[in-house]
Amino acid sequence: MIRTGADYIESIRDGRAVYVGGEKVKDVASHPMFKPLVDIRARFYDMQHDPRTRHLMAYEEDGEWNGIGNKLPLTQGDWWDKRRATDTLLEEVGGVVTRVGDETVGEMWSLFDGQDVLNEVDPQFSANIRNHIQRVLKADPFHVSANTDPKGDRSKPPQDQDPDMLLHVVRETDAGIVVRGAKYETAAAYANQAFTKPTIANWGNAAYSDYAVGFICDLGSPGLKFICRTGFAGRAPADDYPLSNSFDEVDTLVIFDDVLIPWENVLFYRHTRAAMFIRATLHRYSAFAFVQRNLKLADMMIGAALFNARQTGLDKQQAVQEKLAQLAVYREGINAHLTAAIALSERSPGGLMMPNQSLLYTGRVLACSQLHEMMHIARELCGGQICVTPDKAAFDAPETKPWLDKFYTINSEWIADDRRKLLAFARDMLNSDYAGHRLTFQLFAQSPPFAHLAAVYRNFDWDGPLDFVRKAAGLSENVLGKVTRAPGDSAVSQWFNTTPPSRQAAE
Ligand SMILES: Cc1cc2nc3c(=O)[nH]c(=O)nc-3n(C[C@H](O)[C@H](O)[C@H](O)COP(=O)(O)OP(=O)(O)OC[C@H]3O[C@@H](n4cnc5c(N)ncnc54)[C@H](O)[C@@H]3O)c2cc1C
Repeated sequence: MIRTGADYIESIRDGRAVYVGGEKVKDVASHPMFKPLVDIRARFYDMQHDPRTRHLMAYEEDGEWNGIGNKLPLTQGDWWDKRRATDTLLEEVGGVVTRVGDETVGEMWSLFDGQDVLNEVDPQFSANIRNHIQRVLKADPFHVSANTDPKGDRSKPPQDQDPDMLLHVVRETDAGIVVRGAKYETAAAYANQAFTKPTIANWGNAAYSDYAVGFICDLGSPGLKFICRTGFAGRAPADDYPLSNSFDEVDTLVIFDDVLIPWENVLFYRHTRAAMFIRATLHRYSAFAFVQRNLKLADMMIGAALFNARQTGLDKQQAVQEKLAQLAVYREGINAHLTAAIALSERSPGGLMMPNQSLLYTGRVLACSQLHEMMHIARELCGGQICVTPDKAAFDAPETKPWLDKFYTINSEWIADDRRKLLAFARDMLNSDYAGHRLTFQLFAQSPPFAHLAAVYRNFDWDGPLDFVRKAAGLSENVLGKVTRAPGDSAVSQWFNTTPPSRQAAE
């Protein structure tokens, strides 16, 4: 079932306790700092119904329409559909929004793959994850991600400091578990549910812990408080800061003040093995939509830089062309990783179709680790005028308008107002609070850089280079211990030698 934008807006009017700038928000849907993103999310819901976009955003099964973003990926074709749906969303709104559901829902599919682990703990937990994946399809909620606790002093175990620094279970009841603590969650203040789980990677030898808990949190639950950072929308005129005023996804410290989580929403509890499994596999699917955002961001940087170079006639300079080419290499590097991750997609242990893991995780490192350099190249290409140009009010005021029209009009094609708009767009993308926040988001929001590299280390096929060098250097057979790889046994040769997954699904 697909909801409408109006259904979604109604669903977040549930009396939740949302605070921003020290004040309690009366209505999150109409508050000026949340409204732009709530409206975008509502528009996405409506796009699932709109005859113009419905076939791109939703699919029909047994006479019922469901969202493509929520569909369990079973074939390679599902990934092309998801990529196209995400592109359609971003094209429609003309900017980048990340925590809107298509990226976060994939975290649950990782746990679907972990049903064997859950079954060892308690078969009810694997039934719960299956039910929740079905529920996402049927109820079409806005789903976000909750991992990061305040953490406190990490040189001490949680028991030796305020125990609430890490979210934990305080008691069990017949109805469910009661949890206490806090999590950082982008978009939680205007979403419906969050897959909540620990960030701890090292559990030592402990098999059980009150901190090893994962659940779906209904964000309308009593006892939750949403303390939000101040939004960027409304701080300065939209004409001067067009991205800040439209695309700010407000982050929230969600306080769990003894919140009851019904048993049917508990996905694992006390068993550190289940917590370790989800930590290691969390972004197996969701990294795809996350990396796809960097592709769009690269397009935004290329477009702004090239328009500026064309406006000022600098695009004929070879040195300028080389810098534009560097942006294009970055963009196409991401594109190649995403495309190849689908083309060489692989079956997960749970029978789903995963983007090729090594290509996806190396693509995430490429996209996130080079973003700051690419922003700097784009900033350089846009020139210093992105930070010295007066605001629109000065372009409109009778005394200053003639001067600004004179000095910002370049030729008959590039009038002052278009140049002002381009510079305002570039400033907001590269130099504003919003720009810094987006850069930090891509750095941290799917875990910090060291964890991105750890995912590469776990997923890259080390046997290939080892085997090649063993043979090329004439090393003895036993130098590696055990080499499991057969000749031609790489992902690429498998692609040539076996039936592509998309055809397998069709056959
Ligand atoms: C804009 C934004 C949005 C976010 N949205 C969400 C969200 O929706 N949901 C969510 O759960 N979280 C969210 N986060 C939180 C994010 O997941 C964390 O910031 C991230 O996991 C890093 O944790 P931390 O901030 O506590 O940094 P820390 O753990 O304090 O790490 C800081 C730095 O210390 C170093 N470091 C720490 N531990 C190690 C280690 N073991 N090995 C090597 N180096 C180490 C690294 O350099 C690391 O970058 C968001 C963060 C940002 C910035």
